[in-house]
Amino acid sequence: MNYTDQIREIASRLLENGQVDMVMAWEKGAFDYQSLPYVARSLEDIDKMIFDDYCVHNLSTSLLRYRDSNEKIGIVVKGCDSRGLVRLLEDNQIKRERLYIIGVCCSGVMDPLQAMIANSGFSRIKDTSGLAAKCANCIQPNPVIYDELVGATQEARGPANRFEKVSEIENMSVEERRAFFEDVFSRCIRCYACRQACIACDCRTCIFEETRPQWVGRETSISDNMMYHMVRSMHMAGRCIDCGECERVCPVGIPLMLINRKLIKEVDHLYGPYEAGMVYIEGQKPPFSVYDEKDQDDFI
Ligand code: SF4
Ligand code: SF4
Ligand code: SF4
Repeated sequence: MNYTDQIREIASRLLENGQVDMVMAWEKGAFDYQSLPYVARSLEDIDKMIFDDYCVHNLSTSLLRYRDSNEKIGIVVKGCDSRGLVRLLEDNQIKRERLYIIGVCCSGVMDPLQAMIANSGFSRIKDTSGLAAKCANCIQPNPVIYDELVGATQEARGPANRFEKVSEIENMSVEERRAFFEDVFSRCIRCYACRQACIACDCRTCIFEETRPQWVGRETSISDNMMYHMVRSMHMAGRCIDCGECERVCPVGIPLMLINRKLIKEVDHLYGPYEAGMVYIEGQKPPFSVYDEKDQDDFI
């Protein structure tokens, strides 16, 4: 999947016409398996712009850096990234009229972290030829929102039942589940990479950074870790766009998508049919962002 020429052509046109102040895409890093987020602000910058099999990052997350400016931004998005854009638009983080969206129909990307490990000298992973895990489970390879489209429409390649692993956990006894999650979360080093990579974590002040009051302890004890993951996952309910970025960047391999998918499943069941970020309708909000007097819960 190499759309470099097409994307450079579009970016040149947008910058030349003054339609945008910058175009967000990728540039090549030091290694073949590194493609890094990149911002072009002038025609001279265009030559560095690329799109290849390692353009794994969700660029929509980088838009948060520009949420307080007025600049018009061209941005290249794959299917999953475009769902992230819908998240930001629904959350009022950026205005649609500030964006020129270059959508890429995506046949899947590779995982640079896996390639890095394989090239680290320890050779723990031999085969890095496959798609990144998030792509194996992709249900939306084509952009859901765009101004211009690149590439031919792709078939979704997600598994028949992406909730299979969730069902396995559901079928455990309470004690087994607790033991499972204690084991999994005891590995968490609270680096917050999962939060930083997440498009839905768009609060200006994160509850985990607050010290007065300090809502969640900062130790990597099992109780503080459990609290962190419970709070973060609840904040994702009805908002997670299933992009898999949190799990991809976790340095200790915590299966975060298990929790996210459980919530996706429950929100769809209780408030659906609903899948976050699949369509942008101005003014429409995700289920937990609206309140109705006819809501069933007594406490409201
Ligand atoms: S999750 Fe889907 S849209 Fe996103 S990079 Fe993978 S295949 Fe492409
Ligand atoms: S919680 Fe994970 S899968 Fe969901 S939107 Fe955030 S990074 Fe993507
Ligand atoms: S990325 Fe992994 S280790 Fe870091 S805070 Fe998230 S779950 Fe914990």
